[in-house]
Amino acid sequence: MVTEVSNWPMAEDLAPICPYCNTTSELVYGTLLYPHNPALAHLPFYYCGPACDAWVGCHKDTEIPLGRLANAELRHWKVQAHVAFDKLWRVSTISKRKELRRRAYLLLAEQMGLPPSECHIGKMDVTLCKLVIEIVDSRVIHHQLRKAHKANANANT
Ligand SMILES: [Zn+2]
Repeated sequence: MVTEVSNWPMAEDLAPICPYCNTTSELVYGTLLYPHNPALAHLPFYYCGPACDAWVGCHKDTEIPLGRLANAELRHWKVQAHVAFDKLWRVSTISKRKELRRRAYLLLAEQMGLPPSECHIGKMDVTLCKLVIEIVDSRVIHHQLRKAHKANANANT
């Protein structure tokens, strides 16, 4: 029995399986996916195409995928979920945004019944993205954030 121990996985070990056709995606660069956007040209993506036309970006300065591969439909819903979710924390001053965003993600995870480590829009499918939008629209998280903010303000006076 051989146990491979490596802290520095190679790109082929990191390449996610395409959820649409079950084959391994391949590492490509932004020039292929965004030919008209030079800012993305040097960034790595995992891609399955052209039949699936699905891809996912990587964590900054790594070849570690941000989540699952997304096709055109999922990319659309991921953008919509981000538009909804980002409204929760973009309202704050820049210095407080990071903390507010962290808290908003924790509350979202709780509402969705997901462990916080799994509650990232990049990891979600279409159904979960739609659920994010529903939860944000219900304003339950707005309410919880405001309550926490008031409690903090009182504690600091
Ligand atoms: Zn595929």
